[in-house]
Amino acid sequence: KDLFLGKRYESTAVESSASTSPPGERYEYQAEVSRLMDLIVNSLYSNKEVFLRELISNASDALDKLRFLSVTEPGLLKDAVDFDIRIQADTDNGIITITDTGIGMTRQELVDCLGTIAQSGTAKFLKALKDSKDAGGDNNLIGQFGVGFYSAFLVADRVVVSTKSPKSDKQYVWEGEANASSYTVCEETNPEKLIPRGTRLTLYLKRDDKGFAHPERIQKLVKNYSQFVSFPIYTWQEKG
Ligand code: ADP
Ligand code: MG
Repeated sequence: KDLFLGKRYESTAVESSASTSPPGERYEYQAEVSRLMDLIVNSLYSNKEVFLRELISNASDALDKLRFLSVTEPGLLKDAVDFDIRIQADTDNGIITITDTGIGMTRQELVDCLGTIAQSGTAKFLKALKDSKDAGGDNNLIGQFGVGFYSAFLVADRVVVSTKSPKSDKQYVWEGEANASSYTVCEETNPEKLIPRGTRLTLYLKRDDKGFAHPERIQKLVKNYSQFVSFPIYTWQEKG
């Protein structure tokens, strides 16, 4: 049952140099993203729990996109799976997995979306930060603007995104670490980790944030921040 959690995904290419061919290509973040990541990782921002709201909102957007596209292209739904969001807590290992059955990302989309500043809210955040005279201004700005996907690094020191788009017959894995200036993308080769469609995010929580990997805590956050999401959100705990 629990194919997705508990085992660390070991990419063979992570240690290799920038010039390696796929699988395991390494990419530098766009300068703005590096800056944003620095801010997120080193920020004293205390309301870290907003990460879940951001990631659920991305999952919900991905499901919306698929639903919309499937009206004109019903073939996209050939792998008949429900439209839902699943959040799994591995309490013992301090790992949270968020899986959606949405539109997923192609390899190119992974690089375009999770290596650059795609979202306008994040661009506004950086602008506001620049304009802010207050040195500690980022404390409020993070919550005010939302920093999207990168907010995963508020609580995680390692994030793995495994994703399958209906436009591609392959599934790809994005892997990034806090305090790193680059990330890797490779093909998902572990048959146990293949998904019919959508995206699975695995957050390896920082030592001090492992407390988030409790179903009760997650359920509370979902209730507080994501109550209007129009897809079912399931939460459960992995039994070791
Ligand atoms: P925003 O959601 O405002 O666009 P984010 O930083 O939250 O900004 O996400 C950046 C982009 O990454 C999204 O626009 C989307 O294209 C892609 N993305 C993030 N999470 C997912 C997901 N679960 N499924 C598909 N695409 C995603
Ligand atoms: Mg978002």
